[in-house]
Amino acid sequence: MKKEILIKFGEIFLKGENKEKFEKALFDDINQKIGKFGIFNIKKMGSVFAISGENIEKILDVIKKIFGIASFSVAYKTDKNIDEIKKAAAEEISEKIQTKNIKSFKIEAKRSDKSFYLNSLEICTEVGAFIYEKFNLKVDVHNPDLIIKIEIRNCAYVYSEKIEGMGGLPVGTSGLGTVMISGGIDSPVATFMMAKRGLKINAVHFSTPPYTSERSVDKVKRILKKISEYSNSIKFFNINFSNIQKEIKKNCAENLVTIISRRFMSKIAQKIAILEKNGCLITGESLGQVASQTVSAINCTAHDIFLPVFRPLIGFDKSEIIEIAKRIGTFEISIEDFEDCCSLFSPKRPKIKPILRFVENDELKIKNSDELIENAIKNCGICEIN
Ligand code: ATP
Ligand code: MG
Repeated sequence: MKKEILIKFGEIFLKGENKEKFEKALFDDINQKIGKFGIFNIKKMGSVFAISGENIEKILDVIKKIFGIASFSVAYKTDKNIDEIKKAAAEEISEKIQTKNIKSFKIEAKRSDKSFYLNSLEICTEVGAFIYEKFNLKVDVHNPDLIIKIEIRNCAYVYSEKIEGMGGLPVGTSGLGTVMISGGIDSPVATFMMAKRGLKINAVHFSTPPYTSERSVDKVKRILKKISEYSNSIKFFNINFSNIQKEIKKNCAENLVTIISRRFMSKIAQKIAILEKNGCLITGESLGQVASQTVSAINCTAHDIFLPVFRPLIGFDKSEIIEIAKRIGTFEISIEDFEDCCSLFSPKRPKIKPILRFVENDELKIKNSDELIENAIKNCGICEIN
């Protein structure tokens, strides 16, 4: 008996004009990701997709990581014939009984095709009676050990297990966003969270060779590759920040070095975002975590930025961020010990409550800011990560 994967994307986003855009983006994303594993066919049926092909089990881990999928099931597919449906239900129970102690069951039927000659209640009664006799199991409608689900669509589907999907919105349905990504723990999690809300991601990283090595850039690329398993491909911009960093160090007050560096980084990220037609910036800032993330510091950092800045971690504790980083698989890479441009140049006593006016005045000591920014953008390295 053939099995297919039934994908449910939930009804909540399926309203009006969004519906088609949402479904097409999800369809394309699934198609592209499973295509690497063989030849599969995706068919849309009402508000579900059905995936067929050889060895569908091997794409389950891929499906688990796709944004926009609420849940999915591996289901027996049969003709719309009650004897075939009974056979499939029996197969499903025989399979589950091997690994689970099952004493009671319940049948749930849903008839999307109203022309089917039995209604939902009649399907439940017929299949229930058959299972009851064949397996000697109790019917328990309140707290059964196993629920057999039957869906009548343009064919019949029988399954018992619902696997939770990633949720969120399909890649790109919210537009494009530019993340400022370091090699730390936080910005990868922030990237994941905003990609989950449907943003296609561009990533900007600032490195300071020769103080930071090629391996620290490689680390950021490996983090992005991990995120791309969920988000799809990510365009990566590596900015050589050394000249700017040196000018800041030479001209500005030591306790303002981090904050002024951040202001340069934000301006460069915004310029790249605009060139790439991205609508927002993303950072891994979390309120109060370090000196550069107090309210005054964030105000100084973002003061000249007019694009919206999304900071999905702003209200998260470090332990909560680490939990997500571990779950998505970026934590292990983030904690690899490579030099980071911020830690190398960070002052011993950074200003915790910097005053914008003073920061701006200090920054004016760098005479060729615009030129430095233009050059950094002109010379950046770009690649696609997937
Ligand atoms: P992370 O864990 O993301 O490194 P953090 O706790 O170390 O964050 P900061 O070093 O204050 O925090 O950085 C705040 C945010 O600024 C980062 O989350 C990131 O978005 C951005 N950022 C910092 N350093 C860089 C860098 N070298 N390249 C790109 N973005 C950076
Ligand atoms: Mg950091």
